[in-house]
Amino acid sequence: MKLLEDRIHKDGQVLGQDILKVDRFLTHQVDYQLMKEIGKRFAEVYANAGVTKVVTIEASGIAPALYAAESLNVPLIFAKKAKNVTMNDDLLVTEVYSFTKKLTSTVQISSKLLEAGEKVLIIDDFLANGQAALGLLDLMKQAKAEVVGLGIVIEKSFQDGRQKLLDEGMNLTSLARIEKFENGKVIFAPADDSAFDIN
Ligand code: 5GP
Repeated sequence: MKLLEDRIHKDGQVLGQDILKVDRFLTHQVDYQLMKEIGKRFAEVYANAGVTKVVTIEASGIAPALYAAESLNVPLIFAKKAKNVTMNDDLLVTEVYSFTKKLTSTVQISSKLLEAGEKVLIIDDFLANGQAALGLLDLMKQAKAEVVGLGIVIEKSFQDGRQKLLDEGMNLTSLARIEKFENGKVIFAPADDSAFDIN
């Protein structure tokens, strides 16, 4: 998605070998206009997939996922990382190791929010080693929901998350795919947002 790639070139900051900082438009300050375009693009790709819920994980997946949900006219559920006293329903629970925080957290979704057979589009901000996405897949499996696809805003294609998800048979739609970082610059691989439309 050219708009997103241009924005990454303009405002993204490469940190070390493998981290991209995008806190000016995605992970801290949020550009809602860009998020809306991203949400619309995911919705276009999955328009005919019969999506009944969009699912993401807090916190930075929420903004793009919300606009995808708006465009598909379905509810958004975000998996929560901390349990609080209001979460007194039966919970679907899994463990996710965070690439950026370097710690494992328990993530959960109330089981009453998803019925067996629902068709889910999973959205997340980044795909690195795939732990967040695999955790969400595990929750969907527990709910007996069908995952119709996975929409990723920024994929770091030099890490192994993409392959793990393809090995799971997932439809993957990454709007920006980073092939490598070279002298602090981002080099993109072809994105898969226009490669196919899911029916
Ligand atoms: P994974 O679970 O695929 O290893 O990593 C995905 C999660 O880690 C994302 O939800 C995101 O929060 C975080 N993450 C991974 N790589 C990056 C990165 O380069 N920059 C930022 N800001 N977050 C990242």
